[in-house]
Amino acid sequence: GEYSHRVQLGGHDELALLADEFDQLTGRLQTTEEVRRRFVSDASHELKTPLASIRLLTDSILQNEQMDAETAKEFVADIGEEAERLTRITEKLLTLTRMDTAPPVETEPVDVKYVVEKVEHMLSPLAQAVDVRLRCRLEEGCLVRATQDDLYQIAFNLMENAIKYNLPQGEVLVTLEGTGETVFLRVEDTGVGIPEEDLPKIFDRFYRVDKARSRAAGGTGLGLSIVRDTARQHGGTVTARHREGTQGTCFEVTFPRCRAKGVCRV
Ligand code: ADP
Repeated sequence: GEYSHRVQLGGHDELALLADEFDQLTGRLQTTEEVRRRFVSDASHELKTPLASIRLLTDSILQNEQMDAETAKEFVADIGEEAERLTRITEKLLTLTRMDTAPPVETEPVDVKYVVEKVEHMLSPLAQAVDVRLRCRLEEGCLVRATQDDLYQIAFNLMENAIKYNLPQGEVLVTLEGTGETVFLRVEDTGVGIPEEDLPKIFDRFYRVDKARSRAAGGTGLGLSIVRDTARQHGGTVTARHREGTQGTCFEVTFPRCRAKGVCRV
């Protein structure tokens, strides 16, 4: 590739060490470049799909002179939906690129309980509409040094997925607890589940287990990659595993616990 400048040097002297480091660095640059390229090509593909639908729908309206008003109206509504999908995709792409390039924002100690309660409030109409019970067990005083917006985004994406990929009369259980130096946020569901072989890939950009279901639910395949990137930005991690005794999934986010305001300021 463009970055193959392997330096040939022998021995264990300083130059050899330097050469090693140089090789490692160019290797890293190469993977970053590859990741970027794949991202652009995946993104273009995702944008092309709704655009192709819009094209098809407009063509059929324009070319079919006998089309009744009712059908035409349906087609226009479909066009509107595709346009909305494009908006969602571009918004999320912007979130992701902003994360890559923007300078780190001001963080503060945030009590995660209140953030999750806000998300619970926002998502309860959706949960009700699909007949899923949303339960929260939230400990007080679980402080994390981050921004409210970022924590909201993380909780929202995970809880929305847990509802979207659930089954009628299903359940979502959100647990927040602080143990030792760590804050745990778990979102467990009784939903459709994720096959073992897909688990390592679901945090990748645009990865979807069931494309049809994700589309029907208005998904973009970007939600979990935003969760992962955002959690990492604040020193956190996120993992997904099969939920024992159910078909569902358990997502777990961890953050370094912020003990007191004074301690948090770095
Ligand atoms: P999407 O916009 O498609 O929901 P995400 O990045 O949020 O994108 O999730 C990626 C994929 O992971 C989803 O398309 C879905 O197949 C799977 N997934 C995410 N959360 C769950 C869940 N709680 N249960 C089952 N599958 C899930």
